[in-house]
Amino acid sequence: MELRTCSEITLTLSHAKMRRLYLEDVKVICGQTLNSFRNLTFRRAFNAYKIFISYFLSIVTRKPIVWGKPVFFYIEPTNRCNFQCPECSSGQGRLTRPIGMMDTGIFQKLIDLIALDTFSVHLYLQGESYINKQIYDMISYARQKKLYVSVSTNGSLIRKNNAGQIIKQAPDRLIFSMDGLDEDSYKAYRVGGTFAQADAALNLLIETKKKLNAKTPFIELQFIVMKSNEHQVDEVIRYGKMLGVDKVTLKTMQISSAENARKFMPRNKKYSRYILDGEDLKIKSKLKNQCFELWKTSVVTWDGKIVPCCFDKDAMYPLGDINQKSFTEIWHSEKYQEFRKRILENRRGASMCNNCNS
Ligand code: SF4
Repeated sequence: MELRTCSEITLTLSHAKMRRLYLEDVKVICGQTLNSFRNLTFRRAFNAYKIFISYFLSIVTRKPIVWGKPVFFYIEPTNRCNFQCPECSSGQGRLTRPIGMMDTGIFQKLIDLIALDTFSVHLYLQGESYINKQIYDMISYARQKKLYVSVSTNGSLIRKNNAGQIIKQAPDRLIFSMDGLDEDSYKAYRVGGTFAQADAALNLLIETKKKLNAKTPFIELQFIVMKSNEHQVDEVIRYGKMLGVDKVTLKTMQISSAENARKFMPRNKKYSRYILDGEDLKIKSKLKNQCFELWKTSVVTWDGKIVPCCFDKDAMYPLGDINQKSFTEIWHSEKYQEFRKRILENRRGASMCNNCNS
């Protein structure tokens, strides 16, 4: 099952058309699909069906109707990061909300409430998830509740002394971000890290998984295509295959300004979600007055705020706080419904929705 996040467009399928799909690729994809379907109960499937139908009816009637609970959650273990990537609010120290770590108590309370209906939790939002040392217990707790768990990491905290624990308490899917295959291309964006360290960490992860004969995590190497690395697109597929990752995903980059577009936007238009016309940076997406994210996904910041989607990096559109109300109450609240209605009527009216490809 391809778990597409709301802040990204994965180009895996289109890229597969550009290269031969090997038999082992098919086996890996089938294995992953079967693995994720183990988490699918009748109740979760019925919940997903209710969400889909009510979303469809909302589009037809232009009124927000919500019959189920979120199918996916983004939960933020921490918004702290040890890198300073130029387009990341956390890395650049631009977040106006407090920096901190999610408490395991809040996490478990939330998981207990959502586990019967929700299919999957993504334990990342802003920040490097493995900075929060409680992440291992969070992963184990969510997996005990049979949720499909994914974590995204820059790999900088994967060392010999914790690789065993990362594999023993692994998520179902681990996304390893590496946006360059030599020091120049890597450091052009991943400021604070080095290619040598990332390469060593990924090798260590794969070796440890083999040594422990572990089935998880499904290791996905994620490569954001930008000006500094677009010449390495074919090479990263070969690199991933040689190392033995389960999947390589090419991702388009989110860019916030014309200035950064000039620095980072790839020349090859198919790897960009924008068009740059002088100082005017426009997203290619048609920005229809609809957004499935507001039905199928919910997002929880480290301190318990509920926000509409992972584009709301600074919690500018808070919809509630799970320290004060139950999630179910917030999900069906007037505030959440008003936000859904706003998007159904005029998506362009919410500034963050103008830089979104959903
Ligand atoms: S349209 Fe708006 S609410 Fe929906 S995913 Fe995009 S930014 Fe988020």
